[in-house]
Amino acid sequence: MIIGFIGTGNMGLPMVRNLAKAGHTVVAYDQSISALESVVSVGGTVASSQREAVKDAETVITMLPAGEHVRAVYGSDGGLIANVSKGTLLIDCSTIDVENARLVATEAAARDLDMLDAPVSGGVAGAEAGTLTFMVGGPEKVLERARPVLQVMGKNIVHAGESGSGQAAKICNNMMLGISIIATSEAFVMGQKLGLNPKTLFNIISTASGSCWAMQNHLPVPGIVETAASNRDFQAGFSVGMMAKDLRLAQVAAKSVDASTPLGREAAALYTSFEENGNQNLDYSAIIKKISG
Ligand code: NAD
Repeated sequence: MIIGFIGTGNMGLPMVRNLAKAGHTVVAYDQSISALESVVSVGGTVASSQREAVKDAETVITMLPAGEHVRAVYGSDGGLIANVSKGTLLIDCSTIDVENARLVATEAAARDLDMLDAPVSGGVAGAEAGTLTFMVGGPEKVLERARPVLQVMGKNIVHAGESGSGQAAKICNNMMLGISIIATSEAFVMGQKLGLNPKTLFNIISTASGSCWAMQNHLPVPGIVETAASNRDFQAGFSVGMMAKDLRLAQVAAKSVDASTPLGREAAALYTSFEENGNQNLDYSAIIKKISG
């Protein structure tokens, strides 16, 4: 299959690698030249423009930072919706707000194009291993059309509901992740102050009721969990800026349905303040620096 891929950042690049490895022709575009540099080494082809990347594509996948980027890439005169061939399948894997996801899907439907919102969980490691979880919003029959391509990049493909529902599920998930990495940071800072060895504390909590995915995979203390960014000076990974964005999206979503999320609100405030102090490009687990003061 010919696949157009827009957005070859931390997540997009390993997704391109897995698609190319499975035998697909992947034509990739990113507005950043440095993000495109590694595309050839992972088996993809570099396009000189978004239009060139999608002109022969049967499927187009986007992996962009936020709603405004998705709107810019899909909408407007030069956008995907106006420029892909009839019958092209559109899959947006970015994490964005529910409203923009629904808007773009409606614009695609008006041109008779199949579209899904399919944000992912599993991080860069999951993208590299092809074990991402896809949370999919859109018609079920479109998901069945997309499934063979999604299976190349992910292990769990879950239909969340109508358009925008994948984003709703993702925002709920990331609000939990943000809260749990803060809880993990607080426990390890306090534990060390109480004289506990962090490795001992990790071993104890791993088999106790406080254990969580954030601690097991992204422990903010170095030298214990191999996949953690704390071992690499908090090089992202999933950046503070992205987590702050997702926590703010969760607050917008919570407000829109009058859901009470006191810890989600506090997590959004902590990340936003940490981001504003120049930490936006660090891995999200670097929030321990703010907790330890
Ligand atoms: P990233 O910033 O590394 O990559 C995004 C890429 O999009 C960049 O290379 C940027 O240049 C490109 N881009 C932006 N606007 C563009 C445009 N108009 N045209 C072409 N390219 C454009 O971000 P990432 O970490 O890969 O995350 C991408 C999405 O996946 C985000 O929505 C994020 O929330 C989500 N996500 C990330 C992770 C993670 O662990 N990094 C995990 C799950 C979900």
